[in-house]
Amino acid sequence: MEIDVEKPDQYQTGVVFPKLELRADEKARVNVLSLKKWEIALTHWVDRMGYVHCLYPFKTVKELIEVESDYGKPEDCILCKKSADGNKHVGLPSRRYAVRVLRYKTDVQGNPVATGGLQYWMEIWILGPKKFSQVIEKWKEWGNLAKHDLALHCTEAKYQNMDIDIKKDALWIAEKDKVVAYWKSEADKYNLMECLGAKVPKEILERRFAMMSRREPDYGPTKETEELDAEKLLGEGTPTAKPASAAKDELAGLFDDEKQPKPDAGALLPENGKRKKGSDATPPKKDYLEGLLDDL
Ligand SMILES: [Zn+2]
Repeated sequence: MEIDVEKPDQYQTGVVFPKLELRADEKARVNVLSLKKWEIALTHWVDRMGYVHCLYPFKTVKELIEVESDYGKPEDCILCKKSADGNKHVGLPSRRYAVRVLRYKTDVQGNPVATGGLQYWMEIWILGPKKFSQVIEKWKEWGNLAKHDLALHCTEAKYQNMDIDIKKDALWIAEKDKVVAYWKSEADKYNLMECLGAKVPKEILERRFAMMSRREPDYGPTKETEELDAEKLLGEGTPTAKPASAAKDELAGLFDDEKQPKPDAGALLPENGKRKKGSDATPPKKDYLEGLLDDL
């Protein structure tokens, strides 16, 4: 059956999903409940198509990072070739990460709403390497992020630049059984790889480019060096997060009470359940929530 490349729904596998996206100056409070379940993908920004997965047949994350640092593999991926040829409509392959987060209903200041109890829903957070590193740094510094909500403050909407701060507590724990049940029922609805970009076969892409360059000479290779906004679209603008040291000072000592698990969580506490403090690079040891979170 012929397809019409002007009708993306005939070939795109793109999905509709609740994307974590903030307006300028908007604040949000979220929790990265399943810290272990991240997806990484190498995608190209393609005008009018959005993010499309690189066609290089990656087998490992190492390969993926190598292809990115080589600015693509033109012999293996038509999109890498287009971007290497200077086609301004196709971006270089770049790493993006996706993770599910629990987002709370808050007021404009990012505080939980006063009435109606704890309200939350799942969103998909797509991050570029810098924001991903910011989150991972929080994890290294504070331990299991399921125990600490993140406070986000959007400083710039177009590129989704934001401050990422850590909270001393996690609101969801007050209703943990309910939230975990919700999380389990919701998580399978979204395939993170599909959220990261469309998987479009080479033949489809070739047809599309052939047609577009006939219709618009501008769509073919060009000598213009105009950089795509793709990198900026990842939210990789000027880092705006508060320095980790500042956050540490502000929150120093807040976790002392956590050394003793709450009685209702005692049953879930592994023997060596204490979390390391400080900025030690070693990933944190298991803690009392791990049992609850292991299969999320
Ligand atoms: Zn590629």
